[in-house]
Amino acid sequence: MLPLARMEKVIIVGSGCAGLTAAIYAARANLSPLVLEGRQPGGQLSTTTMVENFPGFPEGIEGPQLILNMHKQAENFGARFSYAEVTDFDMANQHVRLFADDEWLETQAVIIASGASARYLGLENEEKLIGHGLTSCATCDGAFYRNVPVCVIGGGDSAAEEALFLTRFASKVYVIHRRDQLRASKIMADRVLKCEKIEPIWNTVVTHYIADQKGEMCAVQLRNVRTKEEKQLEVACVFVAIGHDPNTKAFAGKLETDPEGYLLVRHLAEGKHSGVFIAGDVADRVYKQAVTAAGSGCAAAMEAEKYLSSFER
Ligand code: NAP
Repeated sequence: MLPLARMEKVIIVGSGCAGLTAAIYAARANLSPLVLEGRQPGGQLSTTTMVENFPGFPEGIEGPQLILNMHKQAENFGARFSYAEVTDFDMANQHVRLFADDEWLETQAVIIASGASARYLGLENEEKLIGHGLTSCATCDGAFYRNVPVCVIGGGDSAAEEALFLTRFASKVYVIHRRDQLRASKIMADRVLKCEKIEPIWNTVVTHYIADQKGEMCAVQLRNVRTKEEKQLEVACVFVAIGHDPNTKAFAGKLETDPEGYLLVRHLAEGKHSGVFIAGDVADRVYKQAVTAAGSGCAAAMEAEKYLSSFER
């Protein structure tokens, strides 16, 4: 084990909506939190397009701008930021230890807001094709696919949002969904179904990705789950939008999770996990909204502050 490098009051793991809200509250409480942002700062909002349901923005706000605003707000109050990524964690003597990049950090309290990452299908050549016509981020990669057909896999709000965004560039956007009805909210589903450039392919799953000789995606193999009929569909890019998995690798086996791996929310001021506070999508298998993530970030920071002040009495 490496020697301890330094001691912090509050470390926040994650810099999405939950982590940054926690940072704003902890910084305003004069706790000078250290935010470990990880390699992909900003969480899911930083890869989304227009956010229409975050209160206070009647015209909507672009996800990356919302994140940038929160980041500045936290920084203005004294939050500190590092791109370090937490890979290990343990607890001893009322202190929490986090291994981030090359050092162990010790902190009196940690707010875990490590979020969730896009899920993929788990098909054979998937890893090789990521970045070669396979992605989970339309905002990042959509503009590379102008005037060519693309497809989105999934039927939730993410799939709807991705599909609508992609109509700006692609010649055609297929939405491949395993059922005959979108799970997305009604407003988003209606937009998708009314859009001429989008063609839903119902009751269908992708069974293979097909690459050309250069190793770039060129088609997908489809199977209708009802009729079992198989066919190929030519697409230049596949956008996977089938939900997310919680980022809990660093905490595996050390903190309690539900069967799907989501951390159980506990603001643990007492007991064997004292000093551990949890916020956002890493613990939310139900709501997964920016505003609920922000709310839980606020609650976690307030609980952490209460916990820390108990040492001063
Ligand atoms: P989601 O709501 O869980 O939807 C995932 C979709 O992928 C579902 O349609 C699901 O099919 C399908 N799916 C899951 N596993 C699959 C597999 N192995 N193969 C094929 N299809 C699969 O996830 P999400 O769309 O990422 O949304 C997550 C949360 O964020 C939701 O609460 C959503 O409302 C919210 N969100 C909101 C907005 C917004 O308000 N603008 C934007 C994005 C996300 P089934 O329908 O059959 O289960």
